[in-house]
Amino acid sequence: MYRVDGDQEAARLREEMVARQLAPRRIRDRRVLAAFREVPRHLFAPGAGPREAYADHPLPIGEGQTISQPYMVALMTQCLELAGGEKVLEIGTGSGYQAAILSRLAARVYTVERIASLAERTGDLFRRLGYENISIRVGDGTRGWPEFSPYDGIIVTAGSPGVPPPLVEQLGEGGKLVIPSGSGYSQRLLVLERRGEKIIERDEGGCVFVPLIGEYGWKEQG
Ligand code: SAH
Repeated sequence: MYRVDGDQEAARLREEMVARQLAPRRIRDRRVLAAFREVPRHLFAPGAGPREAYADHPLPIGEGQTISQPYMVALMTQCLELAGGEKVLEIGTGSGYQAAILSRLAARVYTVERIASLAERTGDLFRRLGYENISIRVGDGTRGWPEFSPYDGIIVTAGSPGVPPPLVEQLGEGGKLVIPSGSGYSQRLLVLERRGEKIIERDEGGCVFVPLIGEYGWKEQG
């Protein structure tokens, strides 16, 4: 087990991250802020020291992938408006940091990663941290994870050329789908909400994510 609370320096850096990067921007959800005080981001960024891990920028996690800057993780999480009982699907497990934050705020988290080595490393970390309400699967997340649908929230943490239809299909009544949609270089953060047969969409601003690669995303290079 990691000494999650014993690391006083990391806990202080988390307080500072919340106070300087999240609270002054648009992050108002108290439960979201509490999750950012709790989850040890420095353990999700191999190679980065604690100071760097809590700084206001994305971090490399290997395999050419990145964890988003804390503010972007917080904004996407806040858009789901979680109360605690929800079932949430994440596409793009990566380091597991976003899933770990979600696991503090929802009842159950399902997360799909296409790169097996990342999924394995992250699964080990969840076990060591005791985050038992997260299930990981290796596969193409643009198809969702139909077995456990419908979901109260779906969050895509890679940039997509459009909204994959299977994800909209797997969204439950009142559920929200948060997805960066646009070109390979920059996207808009879209929030889609299911109200019966209708889907309501809003735009939460610009963002930059690594590409979502799969059947309903970008085609693999080569
Ligand atoms: N949420 C992650 C962000 C990782 S970066 C974190 O907190 O660290 C985006 C991730 O999406 C990468 O790990 C990449 O491999 C993965 N990815 C890209 N396309 C995917 C797809 N079709 N299905 C599942 N994962 C995908």
